[in-house]
Amino acid sequence: MGYLGAHVSTAGGVARAFERAAAIGCDALQVFVKNANAWRAKPLEATTVDAFAAARAVTPGRDVAAPLPVIAHASYLINLASPLAETAERSREALLDELRRCDSLGVDALVVHPGAHVGSGPDAGLDAVARALDDVFARHPDGRTRLLLENTAGQGTVLGADLAHHTRVLRSVAAPERLGVCLDTCHAFAAGVDLRKPDGYEAFIEVADAAVGLARIMAWHLNDSRFPLGSRKDRHANVGAGELGAAAFLPLLVDPRFERVPMVLETPLGDDDQGHARDLVTLRELLSPQPSAT
Ligand SMILES: [Zn+2]
Ligand SMILES: [Zn+2]
Repeated sequence: MGYLGAHVSTAGGVARAFERAAAIGCDALQVFVKNANAWRAKPLEATTVDAFAAARAVTPGRDVAAPLPVIAHASYLINLASPLAETAERSREALLDELRRCDSLGVDALVVHPGAHVGSGPDAGLDAVARALDDVFARHPDGRTRLLLENTAGQGTVLGADLAHHTRVLRSVAAPERLGVCLDTCHAFAAGVDLRKPDGYEAFIEVADAAVGLARIMAWHLNDSRFPLGSRKDRHANVGAGELGAAAFLPLLVDPRFERVPMVLETPLGDDDQGHARDLVTLRELLSPQPSAT
């Protein structure tokens, strides 16, 4: 099984994420390294970086000998595919800043959406994404944090519902070794991949392998979907409470090819804030069904 975890809040400081992750039994976590709904943020202070490293070092994970896997999700404002010069420029600056923050913190990977072409068409959009990534990597040449392009539900003019888009970006950037892919189960399902079918998961993995190579799949987002197959709507549901259903997650959870890949929940927290805790229990019960269950 992969490293199971969740997107956790950094309220009170980014280092606070670890105590929240530990409280619900995460073996991996995802955070925002700045306010995801703002373009700018004040620079990270040395004390913040130190506190993050210290908290990570004392948080037990599945691997006692290795640090807890940590990934970050980039701001939702970033649109690397934008045909508008101002948005494109702001997006590059914002992504560069996030990548630098991740590197300062020692975050393993930063997940970003390819973006939306907003009318310029997929070809122009994907070219814009590749040029933006070239620019960002050139301005941060020694970065170690991997940038992961997520698959999307494909709403509106959003790119990345089809993994052929990821193939194309990988082939047209100067430094593909700095890129990876993050696969989101809700987005795949909303984009038309029927993960409920017995062979649905395997077929998806075959497509992903051909498109980007399995070694590049460096994170998973475990989300159920509020809307049906092919709806192209990006609305996450708690595991088992959506159209996918809990059983659809099992083939992924037991796939030895993703044994060392972070798999994080981005599901609703609910009124009591315990949504991720419950979803982790649901996922772990799939792996070891309780005999008392009726
Ligand atoms: Zn995302
Ligand atoms: Zn996601």
